[in-house]
Amino acid sequence: MGVNRKTSGVNSSHEGLTPARPIDPAEVASIPVPATADGRAGLAALLATPARALVALDFDGTLAPIVADPAQARALPAAVDALRALMPLVGTMAVLTGRPALSAVEHGSLDQLPGIVVLGHYGRQRWQDGELYSPPPPEGLAVARERLPGVLAGAAADGTWVEDKADALAVHTRRAADPPAALERIRAPLLRLAAETGLRTEPGRLVIELRPPGADKGLALEDLAGQRDSAAVMFCGDDLGDRPAFAAVRRMRAAGRPGLAVCSGSAEVGELAAEADLVVTGPQGVAALLAAVAAEIGRAGRRARA
Ligand SMILES: [Mg+2]
Repeated sequence: MGVNRKTSGVNSSHEGLTPARPIDPAEVASIPVPATADGRAGLAALLATPARALVALDFDGTLAPIVADPAQARALPAAVDALRALMPLVGTMAVLTGRPALSAVEHGSLDQLPGIVVLGHYGRQRWQDGELYSPPPPEGLAVARERLPGVLAGAAADGTWVEDKADALAVHTRRAADPPAALERIRAPLLRLAAETGLRTEPGRLVIELRPPGADKGLALEDLAGQRDSAAVMFCGDDLGDRPAFAAVRRMRAAGRPGLAVCSGSAEVGELAAEADLVVTGPQGVAALLAAVAAEIGRAGRRARA
């Protein structure tokens, strides 16, 4: 059984958000051209029928710059401005994140974007217009939480720290003296702990997460596109956890639903760029892309009315 609760008291504070700065079309660059033919077709379909399009975005590294402490991450003001400009022009806008849904709402001031769908914990949680649906965490998570300090001590990985996401446990090595080496030391012990507690591991940017099985961003994206009967899909992500969503874009394309996978490029994750139709430069590039798409839809609308 899931839990529905009202969350109108979400405490969001985003200095750059209110009032929204209107985006001046003259300032907006044109939309970058996707590298793949399928990506170009996906973008064309989105622009042809924006009211039936789904635009979904990861949060950390895509809308918000990566910072050492995830509690300090905030969506770029330019990204929030662009979301606000694009939101009324497309059928569905969604944030699809490994964070708890409420955490993304708070860190992105998403409660100020009525109608936006926030899928948290890789799609296990869904938040929209102040209402949260959240299934209870599996029993194995409590066992893993209890055993994790001992497992990390045994791995002798100094400088690691655990982010307790309530429905998942993320072990970060970004603050270790040698972050990649620390990540390697904890990998096998965490895989064992996950197997013993019925959880799965999710690798990310200097982080390994233990989380419930049965949800991933690809399934979440396909479900949402199906629910909304979307005619085109654009997904933007930056990390390994976004690969299933990229794969979902390819599956949907093969099934006749055009789409576009966009990588918020970084020096830390090279693998994802190879699977993307379009690579932009980090959250700043994502914000510019969203603004350019909004401006192009606005221009097309004005042309149609003229
Ligand atoms: Mg990310």
